[in-house]
Amino acid sequence: MSSALLGPVEVRELAERLDVSPTKKLGQNFVIDPNTVRKIVRLAGVGAETAVIEIGPGLGSLTLGITEVGADVTAIEIDSRLAAELPNTIRAMQPEAAERFRVIHTDALDLAAAHLAGLPAQPTALVANLPYNVSVPILMHLLELIPTLDRGLVMVQAEVGYRIAAGPGSKEYGAPSAKATWYGEWGIAGTVSRRIFWPVPGVDSVLVSYERRAEPIGTEAERVLTFELVNAAFAQRRKMIRQALQPVLGAEHAVAIIEQAGIAPTARAEQLHINDFLAIARSRAASDL
Ligand code: SAM
Repeated sequence: MSSALLGPVEVRELAERLDVSPTKKLGQNFVIDPNTVRKIVRLAGVGAETAVIEIGPGLGSLTLGITEVGADVTAIEIDSRLAAELPNTIRAMQPEAAERFRVIHTDALDLAAAHLAGLPAQPTALVANLPYNVSVPILMHLLELIPTLDRGLVMVQAEVGYRIAAGPGSKEYGAPSAKATWYGEWGIAGTVSRRIFWPVPGVDSVLVSYERRAEPIGTEAERVLTFELVNAAFAQRRKMIRQALQPVLGAEHAVAIIEQAGIAPTARAEQLHINDFLAIARSRAASDL
């Protein structure tokens, strides 16, 4: 076993030295198991050619696994103490990686194109152990912000992971699943024991994989309207869409627009694929109603 990754002893020592007590509010559960780190990096398929973006590097457990394989890493961390120390950790443990690592101290939800403008290469892969309470909004924000991001491997709370990867007709299927499908294909790549974290969280985790579509399924304007329809439909998921979509399509025209799209107005949100929502958006745009 190489000593270039953080184990349980190193994680605690580092936290103690930095006077960091992990906070629940920021989802701070740090990985203490190098085997899990190497598994994540292997499943992510990143290597020396890859420009990786990592959200929430924390003490650097996963970061060191990504730099270890030669990747270029841009890490986004909200906690100023952790963001400040991370370059020192990389330099101390993998001096050869310091040149291809940088940290941006900001809330990932506020990450903007300007933050990424000066990078040596735009990120093509997302690898992250995401803070649990904001994992879906962060994913959506990154997919929208970074068009070069063509794949990802993220660790999230199991319940959230199954929801993201769910397809129509399953009970986990919801607005996050439908919207995620706009961008690409999602799958569950593995499960993770809660014992590999410090502190041990109260929930299980899964690894979620992502691959962007070769071609977008619609334009940006179509995406905006499609997501409005998805939100409206799932806000009243037990109702038929002819009723649930009225706030977006108008009470008088909803049925005609849905029928024009070739979708049954009696369908419910959980039966519709993102392509069905897109068809309704296109029907709405094409209609004079
Ligand atoms: N990657 C580390 C690991 O695997 O040990 C830490 C993962 S921990 C689950 C989540 C990390 O995300 C913490 O370092 C936390 O400070 C950071 N974080 C929480 N909310 C964030 C946000 N909105 N933007 C950026 N980082 C955030």
